[in-house]
Amino acid sequence: MSFESVSGAPEAVLVRYGELMLKGANRLDFENTLARNVRLALEPIVPVRLQREHARLLVFPQGRMEAVLQRLQQVFGISSVSPVWGAPCESEAIVECARRVLEDALLAIAPGETRRFRVLSRRADKRFPLGSMELDRLVAARIVQASHPLRIDLDRPELVLGIEVRENRAWLYARREAGPGGLPVGTLGRALCLVSGGIDSPVAAWMAMKRGCEVVFVTFHSPPYIGENAVHKVMDLVRVLGRWQRSARLYVVPFAPVQEALCDAGAESYRTILYRRMMQRIATHIAGLERAGALVTGESLGQVASQTMENLACIEQAAGLPVLRPLICFDKQETIALASRIGTYELSSVQTPDCCSLFLPRHPVLRGSIATCEEIEARLDVDQLVRAALANTQPHNLGHTARLRKVST
Ligand code: ATP
Ligand code: MG
Repeated sequence: MSFESVSGAPEAVLVRYGELMLKGANRLDFENTLARNVRLALEPIVPVRLQREHARLLVFPQGRMEAVLQRLQQVFGISSVSPVWGAPCESEAIVECARRVLEDALLAIAPGETRRFRVLSRRADKRFPLGSMELDRLVAARIVQASHPLRIDLDRPELVLGIEVRENRAWLYARREAGPGGLPVGTLGRALCLVSGGIDSPVAAWMAMKRGCEVVFVTFHSPPYIGENAVHKVMDLVRVLGRWQRSARLYVVPFAPVQEALCDAGAESYRTILYRRMMQRIATHIAGLERAGALVTGESLGQVASQTMENLACIEQAAGLPVLRPLICFDKQETIALASRIGTYELSSVQTPDCCSLFLPRHPVLRGSIATCEEIEARLDVDQLVRAALANTQPHNLGHTARLRKVST
């Protein structure tokens, strides 16, 4: 009998994905996109071979297992990953492999310590002669010996030896790392996120990605009033977010001429709402270029004066696409916790002025009306302002390969 693959190092990564409700063509799209995203995510790390199995993906990397595991934890659609050792589908071979897998897991246990333990097998190949519970018992009986620090506890195990019996091979593991969940980026099309250097909008972008949207970014920037460091901060944020999908494309829109025109139009208390309405219009055009089906913002109900129900209605009315607001009912603390997890919080916390801080109204209106917005805008050539802003808009590709490239702004 050959145990050639039961060596010290795991052979592959077993990738599990959730969303059990997916059926038919949706499921195929989900699996195809997930496989493509996994390949793209691992490309810069190490060459890999993928093997698709029913409801699982096996990734065979040529080394760098820890880096691969970490990277896979940033691929949406994955519910968990395990480094796995393979064995022929035969009970003696499985027992032998289980010993090796446990040897590895037990290295972390100090002398004298014990662990509650169980075996948990799944039989995808029903031709395997033993049922899952029988296999659990057989393997446990053969490997838990008096001298071992393992104590069988089926209900509250600290260490689980997993066995997946598949058609041609059994896969064993003792480690399971959580994935980010959600849907593979791209399965729900594209969205354009209005991203500032604040804490909220990067989190909103991440949440849209998590639900399967590929996110393109736009930021509004107001030179010469606001320094270049503000736009560099947004670029850094977009680079971090880009790690969660396969692209990091940012449009930088010069916004000062729009703001100056709005200030000239008077109605100071409406200024912030009017800025936002112009942002929605310009963003809608860029979304058209990018074939994006929705806009995403970091707005949250009641967080600031511009985010009352009435003011959000005024802002949204200027958009030509659905506006997704993933944080709408989040408390600030919830957003901060998520920003820390994603890795954007520290960057966002560096204080830089935002274009909206320009010419701030002393008493912003709390319950704006759409009719008043339209009345003020009638004093301006809105279309011309939008066209001029678009003409001076710069797209930047900030993906990993473009990291060191000098970006002119
Ligand atoms: P954030 O932390 O995302 O800046 P916020 O709570 O500070 O959000 P606002 O500043 O009122 O709220 O902005 C609301 C939303 O409008 C932002 O989440 C973002 O989607 C969009 N936005 C605001 N300023 C800009 C900007 N300069 N460029 C692009 N989008 C912006
Ligand atoms: Mg802000």
